[in-house]
Amino acid sequence: MKIGILGNGQLGQMLSDSVQDISDIDVSLYDLRAHSDEALDAFLASVERVSFETENIPAHIVARLESVADKLYPSLKALKTFQNRLLEKTALRAAGIDTADFCAVNSLDDLHAAVEQLGLPIVLKTTTEGYDGKGQYVLRSPADAEPAWAAIGGRELIAEAFVSFERETSVIASRDVNGNMVIWPMTENVHHEGILRYSLFPAADLSAEKAQQAERYIRQLADSLDYVGTITLELFDTANGLVANEVAPRVHNSGHWSIEGATTSQFRNHMLAIAGRALGDTTAKYPAVAMLNVISDETPAEKAATIGNAFRHSYGKEARPARKLGHVTVVAADVNERDNTIDQLADLIPAGVWQR
Ligand code: AMP
Repeated sequence: MKIGILGNGQLGQMLSDSVQDISDIDVSLYDLRAHSDEALDAFLASVERVSFETENIPAHIVARLESVADKLYPSLKALKTFQNRLLEKTALRAAGIDTADFCAVNSLDDLHAAVEQLGLPIVLKTTTEGYDGKGQYVLRSPADAEPAWAAIGGRELIAEAFVSFERETSVIASRDVNGNMVIWPMTENVHHEGILRYSLFPAADLSAEKAQQAERYIRQLADSLDYVGTITLELFDTANGLVANEVAPRVHNSGHWSIEGATTSQFRNHMLAIAGRALGDTTAKYPAVAMLNVISDETPAEKAATIGNAFRHSYGKEARPARKLGHVTVVAADVNERDNTIDQLADLIPAGVWQR
């Protein structure tokens, strides 16, 4: 089966790599930056299934996907829903999933009204195209409304009540064409300056109730959209349970650990799902796993080559500030061994961000 992926970044590459050993699955990647209508239409016509590595697909390209909607997985509806934070939060609520209170903001007046309605602090975000913390503004006093509007206003925004969370986590699942789902164990995710720096499995002291809540949430979400493929739900872990923040209709950075760390990776199950095949087991292969991102500079990742239980992935990208250049996965017999290995790789993480 020929599968085409929109986007040829590291996620597309890892999706392709994950099924290298399956001779009758053939993957080609489409570079969204080198777009022409003719090239896209030829690409779409040449494959039996279409998927994407990113939801940040420009509207004029999404419009061209309408005619291939029957071979697009996840669906056009899922793509459109998770491209827009307002539609996303509305879908989460409709699926019975707890989120921050939110409202639409299309003017400075709306923003003043949001401050009244939601209270402060407020996290103001663009509804589209924000990632890694870009296009966001935190309002802490009513006087912040004008500078916030000046900074990111003039387009559709969403105001969210500030969630006071203990940590950030995510849960990733794959759902096949018959509605069967497999779910990876949750990870705890640590960000710095809006960018994921590392993910840990297991998430420390995660209660059985919260693990079950995450599984219930992702099932409800995927079922509500008849979703096919891998889906990620980012969750704030709070004293009152889990609160959904964001959905990625795709494989996610917090799931990269699954390549070495789980029986089947998030990438492979995505490909199996959209190819209409049975999904693989998502059980962790090791008692403890970590994924450390390589940001801006690859030099600290060279150390991984000298460490037996560390696996280095390089995306072959040119170094740039705040750019993800690769990742390192650590597998271990227990949390202590995992954390000792992270200590050895601590140059990958900004000072003070890695806390044992
Ligand atoms: P996002 O792009 O929506 O994932 O937001 C980026 C980061 O901002 C999240 O990882 C959180 O650390 C923080 N954040 C986003 N929304 C909220 C919120 N409603 N309350 C508190 N923190 C938030």
